[in-house]
Amino acid sequence: MEASATEDCCVKVAVHIRPLINDERLQGCADCVTVVSGKPQVQIGTHSFTFDHVYGSTGSPPSAMFEECVAPLVDGLFQGYNATVLAYGQTGSGKTYTMGTSFKDGSQTGLIPQVMNALFSKIEALKHQTEFQLHVSFIEILKEEVRDLLDHTAVHKSETTNGHVGKVTVPGKPPIQIRETSNGVITLAGSTEVSVRTLKEMACYLEQGSLNRATGSTNMNNQSSRSHAIFTITLEQMRKFNPAFPGDSNLNDSMSEEYLCAKLHLVDLAGSERAKRTGSDGLRFKEGVHINKGLLALGNVISALGDEKKRKEGVHVPYRDSKLTRLLQDSLGGNSRTVMIACISPADINAEETLNTLKYANRAR
Ligand code: ADP
Ligand code: MG
Repeated sequence: MEASATEDCCVKVAVHIRPLINDERLQGCADCVTVVSGKPQVQIGTHSFTFDHVYGSTGSPPSAMFEECVAPLVDGLFQGYNATVLAYGQTGSGKTYTMGTSFKDGSQTGLIPQVMNALFSKIEALKHQTEFQLHVSFIEILKEEVRDLLDHTAVHKSETTNGHVGKVTVPGKPPIQIRETSNGVITLAGSTEVSVRTLKEMACYLEQGSLNRATGSTNMNNQSSRSHAIFTITLEQMRKFNPAFPGDSNLNDSMSEEYLCAKLHLVDLAGSERAKRTGSDGLRFKEGVHINKGLLALGNVISALGDEKKRKEGVHVPYRDSKLTRLLQDSLGGNSRTVMIACISPADINAEETLNTLKYANRAR
């Protein structure tokens, strides 16, 4: 059965189909994913799924993704609404490429660099009547543990002889804890939150953090990321306005002030492939289990939120089932907006995982 796209749903789901990469061409892979012409509908084998948007492989051009999916969330930040953008998919499907999480050489591709551009041009346009403060944090969740990617002293990576990436946390540094304030705001106690003034500064932190991100080699992809990486931008604003004439921007002594604070989480999720497919030992398998815990909980939360009927019945949303969903709790559901981008490879060798990704994404809407 096919559901139609609902405009006002709090969760939007898009699919991003990347082109075949050289590696896949060399292996003689065929394209096994079809986009129905003029529709946001994807077919693989006998399965067919409809989403809010489909980008790439003759769906909409990927260059339209930012304007259609993410720009409204950036606008919402200025009205005080929290938001979350998630990239989901198997390792190698294009999550990091889509998000632009590994910001290199001032590259403008990827959603995060475009978010930063949009944010700073809006701030520039509004700064005569509003005071802005921006903060960023960059953390990863690996094996249900939160790590600070902006703290140089806390994260040390060492590649051991058997190829495992080991990490040493400096003794005496308390672990980062997810807390909830009495008014439902989620905070991260013990993580670095840096104040940024310019686009260049923000880009610098993104780059620094991405270099610290945990990667380990598995036989699927030696750049594989088994952690969820979350880049968070917090926007605080003090807006001055004339209560008698709200549209009047000429400042004078009788102005009132309005304070707003909102955050945008940009999430590059861990690879969604099954632990068994990495063909690895007990240790890796355990990591796989933990990664799946976050992705499993996220699927359940988003599915509960996307279901209008369930929401109206006040059904329990299982945020507490993983660190990932707990951390995103105040930015998923409620007044906040969520976009999930399901990243897929068109290659036939990935058909099984692609189908899993489409099924997961389909549950979200
Ligand atoms: P993931 O983060 O999901 O593991 P990556 O973003 O690292 O995947 O992408 C895997 C490979 O595919 C990289 O070499 C990347 O440059 C390439 N790639 C991903 N998406 C695209 C795209 N839309 N266009 C061209 N190349 C892409
Ligand atoms: Mg990646």
